[in-house]
Amino acid sequence: MDYAATILAKIPGTSSKLDKGLKRLLESLQAYMPAEQVEQVVRAYEFGATAHSGQTRMSGDPFISHPLAVAQILADMHMDSQAIAAAILHDVIEDTETPIAELAEQFGNEIATLVDGVSKLDQMQFTSRAEAQAESFRKMMLAMIEDIRVILVKLADRLHNMKTMDSMPVDKQARIARETLEIYAPIANRLGINHMKVDLEDLGFRYLYPFRYSVLDRALKRSKGSQRQIVKKISEHFRKAMEQEGIEGEVIGREKHLYSIYKKMAEKKRLLGDIVDVYGFRIIVNDVNTCYQLLGLVHSLYKPMPGRFKDYIAIPRVNGYQSLHTTLFGPKGLPLEVQIRTSEMNRLAEAGVAAHWQYKAEDKSAATPQRRAREWLARLMEIQESGSSEEFLESVKVDLFPDKIYVFTPKGDIMPLPKGATTVDFAYAVHTDIGNRCVAAKIDRNLVPLRTTLQNSQTVEIITARGAKPNPNWVTFVTSAKARSAIRHYMKKMRSSESIDLGKRLLDRSLKDLGSSLRKVGKVRMREALGELGLTDVNELFEQLGLGERLAPLTARFLIGMHDDAQPEAASLVIAGTEGVVVSYAKCCYPIPGDDVMGYLSSGRGVVIHRNSCGNLINFRKQPEKWISVSWEEEIDRDFSSQIQVEAQNKTGLLAEVAAVIADSDSNIEQVSVTDRHEDGSILTFLLQVKDRIHLARIMRNIKKMPNVLRVSRESA
Ligand code: MN
Repeated sequence: MDYAATILAKIPGTSSKLDKGLKRLLESLQAYMPAEQVEQVVRAYEFGATAHSGQTRMSGDPFISHPLAVAQILADMHMDSQAIAAAILHDVIEDTETPIAELAEQFGNEIATLVDGVSKLDQMQFTSRAEAQAESFRKMMLAMIEDIRVILVKLADRLHNMKTMDSMPVDKQARIARETLEIYAPIANRLGINHMKVDLEDLGFRYLYPFRYSVLDRALKRSKGSQRQIVKKISEHFRKAMEQEGIEGEVIGREKHLYSIYKKMAEKKRLLGDIVDVYGFRIIVNDVNTCYQLLGLVHSLYKPMPGRFKDYIAIPRVNGYQSLHTTLFGPKGLPLEVQIRTSEMNRLAEAGVAAHWQYKAEDKSAATPQRRAREWLARLMEIQESGSSEEFLESVKVDLFPDKIYVFTPKGDIMPLPKGATTVDFAYAVHTDIGNRCVAAKIDRNLVPLRTTLQNSQTVEIITARGAKPNPNWVTFVTSAKARSAIRHYMKKMRSSESIDLGKRLLDRSLKDLGSSLRKVGKVRMREALGELGLTDVNELFEQLGLGERLAPLTARFLIGMHDDAQPEAASLVIAGTEGVVVSYAKCCYPIPGDDVMGYLSSGRGVVIHRNSCGNLINFRKQPEKWISVSWEEEIDRDFSSQIQVEAQNKTGLLAEVAAVIADSDSNIEQVSVTDRHEDGSILTFLLQVKDRIHLARIMRNIKKMPNVLRVSRESA
């Protein structure tokens, strides 16, 4: 079957170069894929070539040559047909007018989703600021991806772009090369795809440090002529010995890749000669037993260097790599590095996670992409069982199945947050002050409620206001420990400053009752008194008074040196309703301005206001020192909760009617319940917001006027 010719005939503007490329791809695919799957790839090519027709690359080549080459890279890895089709279509959404829905219709959801995933990765820009964030960026990428094939297509895309960068401006080359070294090569390494890692590193090195690259490249080429002879001779020696022992296997002379040599020189500060004059060999055999047998053989041919033997078969490397490594003293003492492994080990070392998407004829499993990635990890775990370090595995697992999300600040910085984090968590992650003063948030430029949960890769902006305070309620929806503790800390601080204010007022009141005042007591006596009380700071005393941990009348008498038990007539503490958390209003009697009230000093909670008629005032007689006289400020501008009970005849719509009357009386209902329901009547309990007694009286009057209402009262019946 010659698909290539028939397809090329249909597509306009084709070239002989393309012709060759497509033929090669189809040949590669036909070698491992059934015809109907190759057919799908062919359809993807037709679609892509038509969509990109007329577009060219910077090199002048027709654009489709790029996706075609990307597909070829994946075909060489024996990837499945969906990954290959997605590779051919990977730039269609970005660079042509094609909507994703059309891809889904033509090629199914899975391929469309893969293409969409690659397009989304393309939109992520790696800014220069982000250099220090490379690690976060890599994690974010992996976290965003539901299907590892997306990253495989992306890696192949990057690899081909790196190979065709010559016609690009130099500054752009450097930027892309840096991104490749910092982001893509480490991802390839993390996923165990060695050949991609090596290629990406060498190309990245070449374009980021062109001068260093060419010096090193030339030096290596110079030494290669003589090297090749030696490698050939030693390889022959190995082969002959294997033949004599009846061991089947393949001997490969290994060339080190440039970037790894460069890194070794930079890290170990070694000269080029020390690193290059090492000869590498890889011997691939059929099974594990043969590996060890062969090891014995090479050790008998050349003397092994002590301490250099590593058994990565018994104890694999953390990314699943398995092999035997040994170093031998070669002819003239030249070090020979030998790796021995099975062909299966070799395949896995090169393919990594991609091995799980390689087309297998017998594979009928409908495993989801996530499951396949898990299987790969599980396999690594299995191989790892005997190994010592689980760090790599842990980090891969966290990257692939993260409990974190990654979002951007408006400046493009990456912020890692726990899954389920809200805009408030983000605000506190940026800075505690931003959190404390945040009033609104924007996600991708749209205003959202503060409790909105964030998603990967959103850009989040926080709007702050001067004087804004955190809302205690936030604690119910924030997920990060930092936000939670910052909110709690702020509330505590607020409470403390409010208690200091209140304590100071309470003490001054009590002193005035005794004909003195804080000013009259003076600093000297105060300092002396603080010492006697074991306190260091006057605010500490005020705070204790404000929180009700110490009693103002007793403290006042102590300060002015009065020790008799005569109780002077107490003047009252004036309540303005703005004291904050240190003054609270009892929920047993719901006091409101205008009511006769008393204050109870509740240890740790400050003053709790009760109505004089409240049943709890019985305690007044038991602990008189804990009760203080309070009165209301003249003008109070806030709402208070108040409870009323309405007894009415049963009638449809009764509740709604009462509620309407309450609303007409400028009040809000906080809660309502039907407490008692009998044959002809019900008792409704309302918790209302009112200004004061006058306001409440008006509401009660209006309700009482209703035809079915029998009784309205503030007290429980
Ligand atoms: Mn591309």
